[in-house]
Amino acid sequence: MGVQTTVAGAGIFEAPVMGEPYLLTPGPLTTAYSVKQAMLRDWGSWDADFRAMTADLRRRLLALIGDTKGEFDCVPMQGSGSFCVEAMLGSFVPKNGKVLVLANGAYGLRAAQTMQYLGRAYTLIDKGDYLPPRGAEVAAALEADPSITHVLAIHCETSSGILNPVAEISEATYAHGRKLLIDSMSAFGAVPLEVNQIRYEAMVSSANKCIEGVPGFGFVIAKKAELESAKGNSHSLSLDVHAQWAAMEKTGQWRFTPPTHVVAAFIEALKMHEAEGGVAGRGARYARNRDVMVEGMRGLGFETLLANSWLSPIIVTFFCPADKNFVFDRFYELMKDKGFIIYPGKLTVVDSFRIGCIGRMDEHVMRRVVEAARQSLAEMGVADAAPPSEALQERSKLAA
Ligand SMILES: *Cc1c(COP(=O)(O)O)cnc(C)c1O
Repeated sequence: MGVQTTVAGAGIFEAPVMGEPYLLTPGPLTTAYSVKQAMLRDWGSWDADFRAMTADLRRRLLALIGDTKGEFDCVPMQGSGSFCVEAMLGSFVPKNGKVLVLANGAYGLRAAQTMQYLGRAYTLIDKGDYLPPRGAEVAAALEADPSITHVLAIHCETSSGILNPVAEISEATYAHGRKLLIDSMSAFGAVPLEVNQIRYEAMVSSANKCIEGVPGFGFVIAKKAELESAKGNSHSLSLDVHAQWAAMEKTGQWRFTPPTHVVAAFIEALKMHEAEGGVAGRGARYARNRDVMVEGMRGLGFETLLANSWLSPIIVTFFCPADKNFVFDRFYELMKDKGFIIYPGKLTVVDSFRIGCIGRMDEHVMRRVVEAARQSLAEMGVADAAPPSEALQERSKLAA
């Protein structure tokens, strides 16, 4: 077994198992030692002990949305986050429904691709690499097309790290009598999504993002009325949210083999989430991670794609420096040598990279990240991390 190490000044945050780099990625991410440790035993999936674990997990997740009226239920589903997005779309959008997909990055486009696979009607608002879909555009699209039944929004578009304006999207959706589905994969647990603040029918997230579990399943949180009326909608046996829900209500079990160890790890992660102060506590740590890291990187000359008001506490996109000596692959390796795995960028117009703020780490770790970036630039012979002028022109589109 690995040895637990401590970092001077890191408070309650242990370093990853010795020799492991920190994952500055949006999941899988760096998990607590106790989360990994929770996987060191076996459970029978049908046994009462595991059924109690499943019930505990559902109850703890539901507690995060402030559903005081008991209108919602939580349905865990095997697979990665995309399996849950597909399960949500296939289960809640009737075969004769039509979805307005709001895209400003890879995950919105993936949802549209999922609709294509499902063979169900959809229409797309594609804002490009990062510009946010706004309430007024949603309203106009819904007015123009009365056949649209649902709107699909991405909460934090992880490709750029933008926090999309889901509150105004929700208002526009319900003002026009349609239903909202949310992919809150990379935001849930750190950014509030309380049902008394933002109206929606269903949302999805997964085990390996802001709750800080390990990968292996996701979950749908939906109105019970939607779960009931979803019967018969799904194109897929294994991705049928209604069937999973009905079976779980009846037997307390997952329909097919659950990722037992992942569930055990997730319950430990949920306990740590609660001990940290729930969504507010987790969100505050991530925001601090972001603020310290962004300030330090800007101090080195790096520039963020987004203005401060659009930056999520999840992941931040930086432009690659214009300096000819800067080569991303080399920067990546130099950062990895120093114990930090960063993330390539996804912008199509200019070169970029991303640094995640989520996972089991705090501002002390983020200061070391900035120091590692400073050293890596020096080793590459990059004197100035300022981006090319095209990058700044690109960015000015958002302010407009
Ligand atoms: C991570 C993520 C997903 C799911 O990705 P998987 O690789 O299938 O886990 C979906 N949407 C968003 C916004 C995400 O960040």
